[in-house]
Amino acid sequence: MANPLEIIARHYQTGEGHRIIFSDGIIESIEPAESPENRWYGPGIFDPQVNGYAGIDFQKDGLTTEDLCMASDGLKADGCPRWLLTLITDDFDKLIARLTHLKKLRDADPMLKRAIAGWHVEGPFLSTEPGFRGAHDNQAMRDPTIADIDQIRETLVGDPVLLTFAPEREGAIAAIKRAAELGMRVSLGHCNPSTQNLNEAKNAGATGFTHLANACPQELDRHDNFLWRVLDSGELTCGLIPDQIHVRPMPFRIFHRVLGPENIYYTTDAMSAAGAPPGRYTVGRLDIEVGEDQIVRQPGKTNLAGSALRPFQGVERVAEMLGKPWQEIWDGFSVRPANFMGINHKIEPGQTASLCVITTNHTGKLMGVEAL
Ligand SMILES: [Zn+2]
Repeated sequence: MANPLEIIARHYQTGEGHRIIFSDGIIESIEPAESPENRWYGPGIFDPQVNGYAGIDFQKDGLTTEDLCMASDGLKADGCPRWLLTLITDDFDKLIARLTHLKKLRDADPMLKRAIAGWHVEGPFLSTEPGFRGAHDNQAMRDPTIADIDQIRETLVGDPVLLTFAPEREGAIAAIKRAAELGMRVSLGHCNPSTQNLNEAKNAGATGFTHLANACPQELDRHDNFLWRVLDSGELTCGLIPDQIHVRPMPFRIFHRVLGPENIYYTTDAMSAAGAPPGRYTVGRLDIEVGEDQIVRQPGKTNLAGSALRPFQGVERVAEMLGKPWQEIWDGFSVRPANFMGINHKIEPGQTASLCVITTNHTGKLMGVEAL
């Protein structure tokens, strides 16, 4: 049995001091205790879209346990102990082979099993329209079939799965229905659906929208475009990348007013350059470049290809954009995305320890994070 471990800190919302005792990675007890003023605890950051981290690109073949541990350690150091490993568009067989390999590595290692809470399959059932497709490869995109959905479910067995779909593709509505029946979460994204199509997708079981306002052409019809349609139709839990690059502060605030914070979660959409120095990296077949400004670009192109945002940095930026204390927005990057996936992420006895200890300075500014 591993050594019990304890932390003493203030609850991020109530401010009450607690002593939390762990054993073997499980929360044993939570009791009142005198805590330092500037030490807080809250649920760990939960990121539903991580394409790579700390120099490791999850789209590469032949990744090792060490590679995954390196990415997982990097995420943890930046406040994110649980996340969905995300694979983007590729030839379907390759995608399935990669998922099979990665699941095997994850299931064989208790640390990775705790960190990789599930899987996000973003593509290949996406829009090929320029702007909407983002950095995804048109050539590998295809219409979904029921057999494809069954194959994803069989490959990932009972694990939590998030599927991002373009509902306007042939066969997509039936595939969404099948995915929902098989217990997978369906999010729309990289798509340009009509209002009718959006409603059909929702009726078939789609409940989310992936990185709203990203995967979006520079110019849209002012009278009618997919953003207005999604905002008008409601009922979808929308992900936002809070790096101030993919969504600028003004639309970011407007989305919160229209959708309500309870219908929004945050994600980094991080790729291999996140948690690593500026330089050249890959997202699958794409070569990309990341500068000091943390903007991820394909050399010579203007479109963004994932982000180099670190999770804890994301919290700071949300708080800054919304002008709110970090305590008020923390759930959007922890409990809400986990709830969206149907994963219990509460801090309570008997639960797996997945939390953050956050330090602030005398003005309440975020100074550091440690994830358990
Ligand atoms: Zn995307």
